[in-house]
Amino acid sequence: MFQRLLLPAWLKPANHCLLCDEHSEHSISGICTACELELPWLGGQCAACALPLPVDGLVCGSCLKRPPAFDRVIAPWRYAFPVDTLITRFKHQGKLPLGHLLAELLAQHIQHGMNDGLSKPDLLLPVPLAGKRLRQRGFNQAELICQWLSTALEVPVQKRWLIRQIDTPAQQQLDAKTRRRNLRSAFQLMTNAEVKNRHIALVDDVLTTGATAEMLARLLKRAGAAQVDVYCLARTPRPGE
Ligand SMILES: [Zn+2]
Ligand SMILES: [Zn+2]
Repeated sequence: MFQRLLLPAWLKPANHCLLCDEHSEHSISGICTACELELPWLGGQCAACALPLPVDGLVCGSCLKRPPAFDRVIAPWRYAFPVDTLITRFKHQGKLPLGHLLAELLAQHIQHGMNDGLSKPDLLLPVPLAGKRLRQRGFNQAELICQWLSTALEVPVQKRWLIRQIDTPAQQQLDAKTRRRNLRSAFQLMTNAEVKNRHIALVDDVLTTGATAEMLARLLKRAGAAQVDVYCLARTPRPGE
């Protein structure tokens, strides 16, 4: 049975929805039922990379052609309004309570999945942020999400096992090929990382092309990881859709 997760105290009082500020009798997890229903829930999706698809349970063309190194992606939402705005406010304006809210909802989504047979990972690893962007932002959003998930799901986190070696240009403006080229040399696994035969979940805020997750999953599998899942808040549709 699905169990409601324990929420931090600041999410609970007053029953005011964090999104619409409406007073709500049925407020769960800090947002009202109306707002929860309006979130862009990811319905039909690729069974591997969670790309939005018209029907569920299929594998998308690119995963068929080139099976990803990660086993599967778990994401509750499409990267669309209002989730895109909420993530932006969390990441670029430092609105941590919004990030915490989204992470709690992601934890509930994963917990639902586990109740339906999804296996629990041994360990959570945040996708590392390049040094320059970390300095600009002051925090790594993936690390924060990872920490909140760790508490909610009771899975340990290792923040320093994956490292980003060089500052790659902001990936969002680049095409898939250039991203892959940049990423190949960008990540390293610490020599003291113990991933052999373990089930790892990589944690990030948004999965766009999946190139970063692919590189990291490959690195972890090469080091002997038994399974690599990707947990993220949102999945972008194919470019142009
Ligand atoms: Zn609301
Ligand atoms: Zn796919």
